[in-house]
Amino acid sequence: MKPGPIWHPFTQHALFPQMRAITSASGAWLTDAKGTRVFDAISSWWVVTHGHCHPHIVQAIRDQAGRLDQVIFAGHTHEPAERFAEQLMTHLPDALARIFFSDSGSTAVEVALKMALGHFRHRGETRHRIVVMEHGYHGDTVGTMSAGERGAFTQPYDPLLYAVDRIPFPAPGREQDTLDALEAVARKPETAALLIEPLALGAGGMLFYPPALLAEMAAICARHGVLLIADEVMTGWGRTGRFLACDHAGVVPDILCLSKGITGGHLPLAVTLCREEIFQSHWSTDRRRTFFHSSSYTANPIACAAGVANLELWAREPVQARIEAVAAVQTEGLARLQAHPKITGARQLGTILAAEIGAGGYLSDLGPGLLRFFTGRNLLIRPLGNTVYLLPPYCSTRTELRACHDAILEAADALG
Ligand SMILES: *Cc1c(COP(=O)(O)O)cnc(C)c1O
Repeated sequence: MKPGPIWHPFTQHALFPQMRAITSASGAWLTDAKGTRVFDAISSWWVVTHGHCHPHIVQAIRDQAGRLDQVIFAGHTHEPAERFAEQLMTHLPDALARIFFSDSGSTAVEVALKMALGHFRHRGETRHRIVVMEHGYHGDTVGTMSAGERGAFTQPYDPLLYAVDRIPFPAPGREQDTLDALEAVARKPETAALLIEPLALGAGGMLFYPPALLAEMAAICARHGVLLIADEVMTGWGRTGRFLACDHAGVVPDILCLSKGITGGHLPLAVTLCREEIFQSHWSTDRRRTFFHSSSYTANPIACAAGVANLELWAREPVQARIEAVAAVQTEGLARLQAHPKITGARQLGTILAAEIGAGGYLSDLGPGLLRFFTGRNLLIRPLGNTVYLLPPYCSTRTELRACHDAILEAADALG
C-alpha cells in the first residue's frame, strides 16, 4: 500500500516504507489486499487465542454494540462487566478477590504499580521501590518502560524513567544468583513489590525459567512482606499450557495483570486483580484514599461482551485440548530445531516455541533478513533480533505448524 500519513508502531519507516494491507482474517489466517493468505504464527502480537473472527465472539460484539456501546464506569456498572468479572474469577485463585478494568497490558501494569504503592502509603508504610527482572518487559508507557529492560528502545526517554532494583535473569546455572539478589533487596524496608513475567519473558527474547524458581521467588516475597505482581499479559489465557503461568508453580500472586488473550484477541481490554487487603487499604470514608485511576473507555461494554464470549468458549469448546494439541506439535518441532547445527537454544513452553538462529542481538542485521525470509513465505513470524519464535492461535493445525518449523529450518540452512 502507498505510504500514507500513518506512523506505525515499532517500525523504522526509512527501512520499511511499505505496509502490508490486511483486509480480512479467519482462524489462524490473514488475507491481504492482493488476496494472498498469510499464516499468523504470532497470533497478531500474542493476542489471538481461538482464532481470528471467531463467530461466537463476533456475534457477541454485534449484539452488544446495538444495546449499550459505552458508559462512564465511575458510579455506574453494566451486565457485560459484571458477568465478565464473575466468570473470569472462576478460573483464578479465590485470593484474587477484586478486579479493576483498563484497556491494555501497559495500563494493567500501571494500575498494578499504583495499587501496590497506594496500599503501602495508605497503611502508613514507606515501601515504594519496585523490583524487576533483567530482560523484563511490561509495556511502552513511561511507567512500564521504567520497569522494563533499558536499552536502545528506552534510551531517549531515560531522563523520565524512575529507578528500580533489578535481579538477574535466572539463566541455567545462575538460579541461585537470582534468588540471592531477590533475598537481599526484599529485606530492604523500602521495597514494595516484585513485578515479574511468570515463567516466560516475552519481548525480552522469549526467555523461559522453571516453575520451581517462580515458587521460590514468591516465597521470598511473602517472607519479607513484598507484594508479588504477576504480569501475565502474555502468559495468561493458556499460552504456557495452563490458564496462568503461575498455575504451573502453585503460586498465587498478590496482584495479577491480564490483557492480550482476554477477548480472544478481538477488542482491547485489560484487568488487574488484587487481594482483598489491597482493596481494603484504600477503603475509607477519607476521599484521599480513593484509587485515583481511570481511562475513558474503562470496562467498555462491547469489549467486556467480547470477554464474556471468550470465557463462554473456554467453557463450551475444547480449548484446553487444542492447547495441548498445539503444544504436542511444537514438541515435534522442538526436536527438529534442536537437531539443526545453526540453531541454538531451542526451547518450548506450552504453545510457545523459540530458538536462536546464528548469532546477534535484537538490532543485529539478521533480524530484518529473517523477517523478509518469512514474509516471502507468507508466514507472519516476526523475529526478536535473531530469536525466532512461534506463538500461534490454538486453532492452528499440525500441517500449519509443521510448515512453520520447516521454514525456520530453511532459514537456518540459508545462513552461509
Ligand atoms: C504486551 C505486554 C505488555 C503490554 O501490553 P500492551 O497491551 O501492548 O500495552 C505488558 N506486559 C507483557 C508481559 C506483555 O507481553
